[in-house]
Amino acid sequence: ERTLDKQFFGNCLSKMAELAEENRDYWTKLDSDIGDGDHGINLSIGFRAVSGQLAENLENTDDITGLLKKSGMLLLSKVGGASGPLYGSFFIKMGKDVVGKTTINFPEFVGMIKNGVDAIQFRGKSELGEKTMLDALLPGVAYLEEHIEEEPLVVMEQAVAIMREGAESTIPLIAKKGRAMRLGERAIGHKDPGSESSWMLMNVFLEEMKK
Ligand code: ADP
Ligand code: MG
Ligand code: MG
Repeated sequence: ERTLDKQFFGNCLSKMAELAEENRDYWTKLDSDIGDGDHGINLSIGFRAVSGQLAENLENTDDITGLLKKSGMLLLSKVGGASGPLYGSFFIKMGKDVVGKTTINFPEFVGMIKNGVDAIQFRGKSELGEKTMLDALLPGVAYLEEHIEEEPLVVMEQAVAIMREGAESTIPLIAKKGRAMRLGERAIGHKDPGSESSWMLMNVFLEEMKK
């Protein structure tokens, strides 16, 4: 099982950039159903910047916090849409309790995901059931916190499965936040694009942990 060190997080960011390229059209299609059709484009632009600066950021930071913060700032500054500042905040705040560390344990990792999702919630002023990325993330974080002392890979696998279900759970909802809000009942029957990209991005952590 992979040690959760700075290189692990670097590898995750690099894989997230690949994921964003592969799913650019898919996420954009979801967003064209209930938004403005740019979610995949936004994330591909953002993560291209992250991967482009990754080698330099790995070199110029001395802890996990610094690497994630620099990467989050790129997402925040390079992405025009709502998702840039939200995912940017996730990475910027993720490392706030592990300052100075170059390796962390699983409970610390859970705390990082929790801090990141809290930051999304704070920035977006949103809660569960509003048809946003939080519908994927919040139930997964709750599961992680409840099972923090158990076998990391098993717990993480289940948390990601719960996040995936959370994305599905957005389909019958009316949106209370974001662009889809304007559609009212016409948003019913469509999956929220950010909830789909969220569980898929969190799945990258799982896949890298397995290595
Ligand atoms: P934009 O809507 O500005 O074009 P994106 O298309 O990149 O930005 O991202 C849209 C996604 O952002 C939505 O699918 C939703 O999951 C998420 N989102 C939008 N507003 C909020 C919010 N206030 N809180 C949480 N997530 C949000
Ligand atoms: Mg959009
Ligand atoms: Mg947009």
